[in-house]
Amino acid sequence: MYQMAKIIAQAYSNSPKPHKIMLFTLSVITLAITFWQPIIILSDDQEVKITSQELQIKSNIIIPNKDQIKSDKNKLNSLDSNNSEQLPDEGVINEKGIVSTEAYIISYNDNLTGVLTQYSLDINDIIALSNQYQDLRNLKVGQTLSWELNKDGRLQTLKWIISQRETRIFTRQGKSTKFNEEKQIRRGVWSDVVIQGKINNNFTFSAVNAGLTYNEAHEVSKALQWQIDLRKLKSGDKFSILLSREIIDGHSKQSRLLGVYILTNGKNYYAFRAQNGHYYDSEANSLEQEFLRYPTANIFKVSSPFSLRRINPVTGRISPHQGVDFSMPVGTPILAVGDGEVIVSKYSIAAGNFIAIRHSPQYTTRYMHLCKLLVKPGQKVKKGDRIGLSGNTGRTTGAHLHYELWFNQHAVNPLVANLPYTSRLTGKERQLFLAFVKENKLKLNIN
Ligand SMILES: [Zn+2]
Repeated sequence: MYQMAKIIAQAYSNSPKPHKIMLFTLSVITLAITFWQPIIILSDDQEVKITSQELQIKSNIIIPNKDQIKSDKNKLNSLDSNNSEQLPDEGVINEKGIVSTEAYIISYNDNLTGVLTQYSLDINDIIALSNQYQDLRNLKVGQTLSWELNKDGRLQTLKWIISQRETRIFTRQGKSTKFNEEKQIRRGVWSDVVIQGKINNNFTFSAVNAGLTYNEAHEVSKALQWQIDLRKLKSGDKFSILLSREIIDGHSKQSRLLGVYILTNGKNYYAFRAQNGHYYDSEANSLEQEFLRYPTANIFKVSSPFSLRRINPVTGRISPHQGVDFSMPVGTPILAVGDGEVIVSKYSIAAGNFIAIRHSPQYTTRYMHLCKLLVKPGQKVKKGDRIGLSGNTGRTTGAHLHYELWFNQHAVNPLVANLPYTSRLTGKERQLFLAFVKENKLKLNIN
């Protein structure tokens, strides 16, 4: 090539002017012929090279309707220049005489009948199918429908891709108008991931920043709710979280919290999930607290039940009674129903001497009309501790204890509420748990 160029260059420089022009023109034409390749220019100026083999395949395609042409063009546009350029086989008649069609993505206001009649499918088949499988009446935006017709142009198979996880396939039974349904559930790959970070501002913000979802961050708060209030963590505190996530097509579809480690004020807090779904510390002690049903050692008569529509015996007006009144002699010891922190211990006009204990971010209890307060705000109490003596202070019509249980900022009936229970790990369950902790505690280490 170099030799040839040299000879041409020499000949060129030694030639008279008309020869020079002719030689130049000839060279340009030769080069053009050498490097010319067929190029199809699409309307939006994108170039897609089509090889002769593909042109052959394209010529076998049955005549598509307008929508198919549009969609085929989109496919051509989306081919990137270095992929293997294998065209899809949708729209091509296969050996069984079945015509497959485009996949249709459900849009707003779409329904099964609307979509399929656009493609001239037999309305009787559509009605038969949607009567037989009423779930098909709840198509959601973004789901995909695709279908195959038999050689008579009747619906043979309808494929409904509900999610990355679930697909349903409806196939005609012989020549009838009945369809069989097949559910396909995809299972992703579960893999463990450790997410670590430092508190900056607040826990949820920092955890989400580090890569947790909001649901995962909430699950962490729930797992530790009886040990620490994550809202009280300070900037610079550290967390390490072990999750198992199910990955489908590169995205996490669901996850399970396996372990948590929090370092705050120089203290370590651990929580691990056992097979039973409850959380325990690394020594297999339950992290979930058991409540006492009654805040007294003996059970006293209910003088006024929990009711959200009660006539107040003092004011005569309908007002909710957000607790239970137990009539009892003045001076009866009142017990904390669970571990927690005293957040109120004071006198008020309506409640008299009253105490509020916060047991976790979710649970708070209140005790009213006491004659004596035995605890101070900020004091930590244990389940069964004496916190005061019952009395007849504040707005009352007789000596009693008014007791309230609050769950997620709502007063609930303490006599029937589902209280958290402790499920102890014993035997094999305990052994499995301790083995799990041994294997996973190291993963949570913060360097
Ligand atoms: Zn009351």
